[in-house]
Amino acid sequence: MGKSAPKLIRVSRSNVGLRESLAALRVVVRGNLGMGPETREFERELELFLGHRAVCTVNGTAALHLALQAIGIGANDEVLVPSLTYVATFQAIRATGAIPVACEVDPKSLHISLSDAEKRITSRTRALVIVNFAGEVIERELLANFTSKHNLRLVEDAAHSFGSRTNKGCLPEPIDLVAYSFDGIKNITSGEGGCVVSRDHTILDLVADLRLLGVQGDSTNRYSGGRTWNLEVKTQGWRYHMSDVMAAIGRIQLRRFAAQAKSRQAIAKRYDYFLANTPIETFRRNYDNTVPHIYPVLLPEGSPRDLIRSKLQESGIQTGIHYKPNHLLGFFWAATNLPITDNIYSRIISLPLHPKISKGDQVKVVATLLRELGLEKS
Ligand SMILES: *Cc1c(COP(=O)(O)O)cnc(C)c1O
Repeated sequence: MGKSAPKLIRVSRSNVGLRESLAALRVVVRGNLGMGPETREFERELELFLGHRAVCTVNGTAALHLALQAIGIGANDEVLVPSLTYVATFQAIRATGAIPVACEVDPKSLHISLSDAEKRITSRTRALVIVNFAGEVIERELLANFTSKHNLRLVEDAAHSFGSRTNKGCLPEPIDLVAYSFDGIKNITSGEGGCVVSRDHTILDLVADLRLLGVQGDSTNRYSGGRTWNLEVKTQGWRYHMSDVMAAIGRIQLRRFAAQAKSRQAIAKRYDYFLANTPIETFRRNYDNTVPHIYPVLLPEGSPRDLIRSKLQESGIQTGIHYKPNHLLGFFWAATNLPITDNIYSRIISLPLHPKISKGDQVKVVATLLRELGLEKS
C-alpha cells in the first residue's frame, strides 16, 4: 500500500452546503448586502425557535459587548467570569471598560464555580458572566438565586449552547441577557454572527440602536430596506450589525439545526461509550438535552499533553485546547491563584466533533489516543 498522508480529521469545521450558498447568492444578486429584510426574517425565526426576541449582531463577541453595555456595565466595574473561556468573553468585558475578575470552574462540569466567584465579590462587582461550557446549560435556579442574592446582572455566554435544553428538557428561559455566537464552527452558523436575547424589550431596543452606531431607530428603517437620514445619537455605539448575506446563511442553518444537533449528540454519546472505563476523564453530560459544541476530555494527571497532541496530529487527528485560561494571558494576567483551572489546563484536550465525523473516525481517534497514552486495550 502507498504511504499517502491520511485524511486529516479536523477538530471542528463548518457544515454548510449548496442551500447556504444559494441563499447567500440570492442576496448578492438582489444587490442589498447590508442589514435589511433578511436579517429581520432571521430574527423573527430565531424568536420562534428560542421563544424570546433576538437582536442579531456581527459576531458573538459583539453580542456580549453590547449586552454588557446595555445593562450599564462600564469603567471600573468588576465582572465575575470563569477564567476557562475563550478570550472573546474577557475582551468583551474589557471593551466596556470593566475589569474581568477571573474565577475557578467546577472540575466536574467546567462551569463557573459559584462558591469561588462569591469569594471574589467586592463593592464594585456589578455582573456575572457565565459560559455554558461545551454546550451544557447551567441550571437556571442556581444562577437566579446567586444573582439575586448578590444583586448582580447576569450575561450568559451561550456561544457553545445554541439549541441546548435544560435538565428539564426545555429550552432555557433567559434569566437576564443571553449572547449567542453563529461563528463558522458553532452549533449553527451565519458565517460569522451572533445575537442578544432577553425578555426585556427596552434593553433589546437599546442593543438594536447600539449595533448601528447608536443611531436611534435605525434598525426599523434598515429592516424595510431604507436607512435613517435625520440622525439622533445619544450614546456611544458601534458598527456591529449583521448583514443580509449572513442572515440568509443563518436562516438555512436554523432549518438544518435539528439534524445537525442529532449528529453532534450521537457523536458525543459514542465518545462517552468508547472512553468509559478508561483513565481518560469525560464529562458525561446528558446528550438528550445538551447539543455539544466541543468534546473536551481530561488526560490522566501528569500526561505529556502537548506531545500527545502532536502525535495525534501526525496520525491525521487534529485536537484542540479549550482553553488556555485567561488569567495566564499577558493582558489579563492577575496575581490570581486558580489551581483547579491550572490543573485542568494541563490535562484538557478536545477531540474532533462536528457533524461530518464518522463512527470510523471516532474509533481511530480513541484507539490512537489510548495507544499514545500507553493505555492500549489488549
Ligand atoms: C465563539 C465564542 C465566543 C465569541 O463568538 P464569536 O462569534 O466568535 O465572536 C465567545 N465565547 C465563547 C465561549 C466562544 O466559544
